[in-house]
Amino acid sequence: MDQKKMTMSNISTIGVFKDALRVSIKRPSLALFFLKTIISQKRAQRNRLKWIGKGIQVPPVMIFSITDKCNLNCKGCYNKALRIPSKNELDTAQIIDILDQARKLGIAFIVIAGGEPFVRKDFLKIIKTFPELIFLVFTNGLLIDDILLEEIKSKRNVVPVISIEGHLEQTGHRRGEGVFNHLKTVIGNLNNESIFFGTSLTVTRQNFECLTDDAFVADLIEKGCKLFFYVEYTPITEGTENWVPTTEQRKKIPGIMDRYRKKFSALFVGLPAEEEMFGGCLSAGRGFIHVNAKGDLEPCPFAPFSDVNLKDMTLKEALKSRLLKEIRKNQSMLDESEGGCSLWANRKWVETLLK
Ligand code: SF4
Repeated sequence: MDQKKMTMSNISTIGVFKDALRVSIKRPSLALFFLKTIISQKRAQRNRLKWIGKGIQVPPVMIFSITDKCNLNCKGCYNKALRIPSKNELDTAQIIDILDQARKLGIAFIVIAGGEPFVRKDFLKIIKTFPELIFLVFTNGLLIDDILLEEIKSKRNVVPVISIEGHLEQTGHRRGEGVFNHLKTVIGNLNNESIFFGTSLTVTRQNFECLTDDAFVADLIEKGCKLFFYVEYTPITEGTENWVPTTEQRKKIPGIMDRYRKKFSALFVGLPAEEEMFGGCLSAGRGFIHVNAKGDLEPCPFAPFSDVNLKDMTLKEALKSRLLKEIRKNQSMLDESEGGCSLWANRKWVETLLK
């Protein structure tokens, strides 16, 4: 793919919502919601194209880590390894302002991450402001009680994505005792309320067989799960290098995702393995950008490097970041990686760009 296309791209999210419509066809109100979403996502895409035409690389997706605080202490947590909760976190008005700027630039797909997003008591107030944006909320699920369930049920544009590591043993090992059984209840409640939800599965060398066992997937689909993220483990925490899936395992992921899409009525995404479909790493604004809890604009949640902060400038100005542009211009630097995030694997190079 030529460098120009690499630096300025307009990757579409429409396909994702067409798949969401396909797997929701038996639930008319949900299907109607996704039909409307496809129309608003097309509008957003036209808007992005306009800005890209003016030389501003606006990606379709913003990953927004709205807090570093968390009610869990999982082994190998990338966020705890990279970021310490601080008093400088963005306040409610700043988050609303950043989302409003994103909306105006055509970013209509927001992945909310953390820390644990639901520890922020202002989270739902923020979401209420943007009924036209889609929010995928990556959550450990433990704070989804009856009150939150009712709130989520009333907002179709909020899609909870529950993090699990496998069965009781694998989940307990990383997330702690009792978490798996608690999540079984939460998932049951989400399904009973007909809420469209997903799961985020961190793929390690150790849980690969479990997560790619068709019975495991079929069981989750039986329980109402409609969206699966298979995210390769990135060894940010020292001493966890042997958690990274083997080369052989990693090579299997795209094929497994394809097979599941044909076999099951659900959406499957393998990251970063399937970024190849879009010409490689989607970070630094090609497919997504990351805003951390303090407002730094970063290329990716696994790459804590930034030369611009949204407390000091607008999102439009920040998207002109020299660091992001240099990363996009040198895409080939990110082709090779031993698994997980190639920006993290090439962090020495990224640090030279900052200098
Ligand atoms: S729930 Fe997420 S952010 Fe919290 S400790 Fe676990 S992996 Fe880290």
